[in-house]
Amino acid sequence: MAMRPYIVGNWKMNGTRAMLSEARAIDRGAERLVKVEVALAPPFTLIHATRKEAALIGVGAQDCHAAEGGAHTGDISAAMIKDAGAGFTIVGHSERRANHGEKDADVRAKAEAVLAAGMAVIVCVGETEDQRDAGKAESVVARQLRGSLPQGDNAGEKVTVAYEPVWAIGTGRTPTVEEVGAMHRSIRAVLKDLYGEETGGKVRILYGGSVKPENAVELLGADEVNGALVGGASLTAESFLGIVVAA
Ligand code: PEP
Repeated sequence: MAMRPYIVGNWKMNGTRAMLSEARAIDRGAERLVKVEVALAPPFTLIHATRKEAALIGVGAQDCHAAEGGAHTGDISAAMIKDAGAGFTIVGHSERRANHGEKDADVRAKAEAVLAAGMAVIVCVGETEDQRDAGKAESVVARQLRGSLPQGDNAGEKVTVAYEPVWAIGTGRTPTVEEVGAMHRSIRAVLKDLYGEETGGKVRILYGGSVKPENAVELLGADEVNGALVGGASLTAESFLGIVVAA
């Protein structure tokens, strides 16, 4: 059975309350496009307001701290994110891994904290350009999955994986449809190995990296692609809804 496509916008460190009009427009557009599940991950400061403005789409966070609380100045726990109205949290984005030195074990701890708080989690993985050129893309991503995905009873049921080649994020460059399909098939095999045939077969695998309305049909049509994680093109309702329509 084909999965309902899942299109998630990652606003990164963009957006003040003035951008809530885009969230509202995305929500209104999503109302007409019920065959697609749509969600936005605004900055922490807009989660509560986005949840109030946008009734239909999912709203989530871009990161969290792994601890439940305590002396972690400037950090936000999964329970706080849930309390603000979020239903999911992204963890392990390559910008977190590169800019904040997050390792697979950190990502797993965050993913498990997200699940413990009662939210769904999107775990990001992806190779650098050097790793792809060296023919190591699939082995790097498999290692990231094995080290980053949450463990424990039923953990696989609330997990989405986002495959985002680091060299494709924000660059306008994308892998070929064949490369995306090969990677997603390889991710599916790891998921089945980790979570079992049934659960691993149901985890959604999103593609992320320079998805735009113009290339969305092609990328979303690749083998085992169940949706997209969208950065730059999610910042306006016009371009984001163009991707949702393509899905
Ligand atoms: C992202 O950072 O998650 C992303 C996919 O960015 P972009 O769409 O801008 O490449």
